Amino acid sequence: MKKIILTTTNSVEFGTIIEYMGLIQTCLILGNNAVSEFISGFTDLFGGFSNTLRSKFDELYENASKEIEDKARKKGADAVVGMKVDFEELAGKGKSMFMISIVGTAVKVKFDSEADEDKYSNEELYVNNTALNFELTKDEILRKLNDLEKRNMSTVEEWNPYLTDEQWNFILSYSLPEYAERLSDLYNAPKPSDTTQENYPRYIATLEIEDAKDIVYGNIQNALNVDNVDAEKIKKYKSIIKQLNLFDAKRLIGILNSDGIDINSLTPLLTLDKDIYRESDLKDMEELLSIFDNLKDKGRKEEVKGGLFSKASKIKFICPNGHANNEEVEYCETCYLNIKGLTITTVKEIENYRKKVLTLRTLMSNLK
Ligand SMILES: [Zn+2]
Repeated sequence: MKKIILTTTNSVEFGTIIEYMGLIQTCLILGNNAVSEFISGFTDLFGGFSNTLRSKFDELYENASKEIEDKARKKGADAVVGMKVDFEELAGKGKSMFMISIVGTAVKVKFDSEADEDKYSNEELYVNNTALNFELTKDEILRKLNDLEKRNMSTVEEWNPYLTDEQWNFILSYSLPEYAERLSDLYNAPKPSDTTQENYPRYIATLEIEDAKDIVYGNIQNALNVDNVDAEKIKKYKSIIKQLNLFDAKRLIGILNSDGIDINSLTPLLTLDKDIYRESDLKDMEELLSIFDNLKDKGRKEEVKGGLFSKASKIKFICPNGHANNEEVEYCETCYLNIKGLTITTVKEIENYRKKVLTLRTLMSNLK
């Protein structure tokens, strides 16, 4: 394996840079649990800097530099120069995480002497122990989670604590989307444990934002299945969207445009907020509104003949479920749906959403 030279300087000591191959970057996140450990670490400051946290940071740094090396190797580079390492605290909504980001420039190097070239091109393969332990722990947890599939979900929580504190700690310390499906199963089980309920949103918070949205909106879409609406699940994921500021009108458009969705159960999500609305958000929100405004009729107005001996006929409102009502009835007297299949609550929710969109539009145009 070729060794990649990593350096903070802009040049390589034993050679000349002959080609710049572009920036390489990576970032890893140290999640919530490790950070609260950090905060509790202040209490034993007399005992020195929290050792757990220090080793966490070391581990994070090693993993991040390993990723940089891998990326450079794949590009066919010899070195990464001008490397910059940043630790940043991401805080907000009572949550706190640390992010390490490394960026550098991948370069091809012409070495001054063959000896130098050999030194860097023929390095013996090596794996460091941190990386080894990381993979082992990761796989062990994944295996444990995959065992879930073989069990009846209603019994899953019977053998709580399913994951040890240490394993949760590991999960929350890295951004690991491969756990999403199984952890969602745990969270969606009939009686999730307190630990699961508490840690699942934290886990979602460790993921890249698009991965997090895939999971959250995917679960909501499942819960909106017209044949099997799961109101409890919708409520839980709605609260996660709120907590983690994941509102995305585009995602709701996607759900609305898919088949077999219960619209009446979707509209409560329209009260979700964002911290900041950009012009693109407004555009998506307007598009969402226009989908509601252009819903096709699911019921119909129909001319119904009078009695056997009567020539007069009446217009009837036939609701989406086939109930016949008098023409002037707006919401079916049997199932409470209007001609578009919406309940009165849904119609009100859409009207409130319309007010929000219109006000946003006014505010936005005042800025111009
Ligand atoms: Zn009806």
